[in-house]
Amino acid sequence: MIGDLLNLIFPNLCISCNASLSRNERHLCLGCLIRLPETQHHLTKENSVEKTLWGRIPFERAFSFLYFNQKGTTQKLLHELKYKGNEELAHFLGEMYANKIRKTVEDHGINAIVAIPLHKMKMAKRGYNQSLAFANGMANQLPLENLSDYVSRKKYTDTQTKKSRIDRWDNVNSVFAIQNLQSFENKHILVVDDVITTGATIESCASEITKSVNCRISIASIAYAA
Ligand SMILES: [Zn+2]
Repeated sequence: MIGDLLNLIFPNLCISCNASLSRNERHLCLGCLIRLPETQHHLTKENSVEKTLWGRIPFERAFSFLYFNQKGTTQKLLHELKYKGNEELAHFLGEMYANKIRKTVEDHGINAIVAIPLHKMKMAKRGYNQSLAFANGMANQLPLENLSDYVSRKKYTDTQTKKSRIDRWDNVNSVFAIQNLQSFENKHILVVDDVITTGATIESCASEITKSVNCRISIASIAYAA
């Protein structure tokens, strides 16, 4: 009742098209939900994320949920996550993706999950880590041990958008620290980031994990931007 009244005064709107949401819809209207630009990478070996990372780190599978399309729904979702602090949306996307990749996770024996951490300063500025909220949503739906607390970022790195790939590699090289190494041993860990572009951040974090402990790595992200 109060929820209905609130919705009348502050209607919930679709993040993508601004249509009013019905009671059963969350964040996106049904029309936008079914038109999400899903990559279906988890069903396709040798997909574009895997090709991006080949030869750089040992991994089993890599997949992104959505294609990044300029001015499209993915961009609006990422904007909402990044600038409007919509942690619940990140969690919602994680739960939704978990249910899509369930069989892939089972088939490959993936049994743990790690979100790429933010540096404390960036965390304070943004209020939350969208990769972690996405990973937490996945861990809610799948039998994955959440090891995210054991990975931290040692160095504060500047925004990477205007740097070349080599600069980026320097920038992220050995910025991650792993604690409680025994928790990672003999696991198959899904390393989760928000957006994969060059893959440098994933490469740095995943290589730090695999050089420290005997475990297998797969990779997932909310979006893939070629
Ligand atoms: Zn919509």
